[in-house]
Amino acid sequence: MKDNISKIKNIFLRYREKFNSLSHYHLSRFIKTSLKSPFQSIHNGVMKVMINLTYNCHCDCDYCWCASYENKGRQELSSSEVKKIIDQIVDYPSLFTLVSFIGGEPLLKEDIYQLINYAAGKGLFVEMETNGILLSGQAVAKLKTAGLNHIFIRIEGSSKESHDLISKAEGCFAKAIKGIELCRSAGLSCSIFANVSKEKIYSGEIKRIIELVKALGVASARMIYPTLGGRLVDAEERRLSAQDEVQVAGLLEPGFVYLESTHSSSGESSRFCAALHKKFFHISCHGEVQPCPFVPLSFGNIRERGLAEIVSVMFGHPIFSKGYSGCLMNNPDFRREYILPAQLEGTYRNLSL
Ligand code: SF4
Ligand code: SF4
Repeated sequence: MKDNISKIKNIFLRYREKFNSLSHYHLSRFIKTSLKSPFQSIHNGVMKVMINLTYNCHCDCDYCWCASYENKGRQELSSSEVKKIIDQIVDYPSLFTLVSFIGGEPLLKEDIYQLINYAAGKGLFVEMETNGILLSGQAVAKLKTAGLNHIFIRIEGSSKESHDLISKAEGCFAKAIKGIELCRSAGLSCSIFANVSKEKIYSGEIKRIIELVKALGVASARMIYPTLGGRLVDAEERRLSAQDEVQVAGLLEPGFVYLESTHSSSGESSRFCAALHKKFFHISCHGEVQPCPFVPLSFGNIRERGLAEIVSVMFGHPIFSKGYSGCLMNNPDFRREYILPAQLEGTYRNLSL
């Protein structure tokens, strides 16, 4: 009971800045979906849908998950296709739905501001994840005007040297830091995310990143454990040990530093897989519907079938009832059964039938 109260408190603290950007559009969608499908909306509760707009990016991180999806022959979703997806997400029964525009680098997508505006106007809570390179004063003002509710900026190091080295993009650190400052002064709710590695834990880099972004006044700092997907699919040596995880858990701070895929920010180190618990899913920039961007399994393409139908097929799949725990991509049983065959079959393994 005490643990649950602490989790709720942490979630509240973490989201308090985001709550300020709620509008009458969110209330209006909440009322509509609750009246239309009350039981399903309550059952689904809060949903997050990640929409990948492009795999293009200025950076070239060695842990990049989307690099393995590159497919030069495939057409990215057009803006009108993304709008049709948004319409279907609006109709998906849930009390509250977040849409997260991701990439690659989503600011490379033309019409990004229009797409944000479209989703925000439909009552979806809109987030974006960016490497920060394109965050000029003008871009931040346009994001705010478009109705973006929250922005996550990627910070991989506490200095130009460490961040740019990981990103393999000269000047990336300075632009990301400037982007944070611009968002703060424009009143755009802003957090950072950082990938955790053994090197960063034991060199003190994670701690320095936290100190840096705290001084910049961001709302929260999201830490991400290495996931054995994308370029790291075979990188067993990058997996954190239980001892490494305890070190990370010691750096978490209630309401500020939290671990991706946990509800807590106070000492909890094990991963809660939101995909496995049907709390989110991903639509690739080629229209493939996946449980999570890291999981190279497609349950159907949005260009061929409706979203509700694909999601129903996906959530009815045995993957969700086999009793897997922790991160799917780091789970040995799941990897043996689904990931090795996916690698053998190419970019995605199709499970839509
Ligand atoms: S910033 Fe993100 S999308 Fe770009 S290379 Fe790095 S991990 Fe990949
Ligand atoms: S499989 Fe689950 S825990 Fe792993 S990255 Fe995806 S959502 Fe997160």
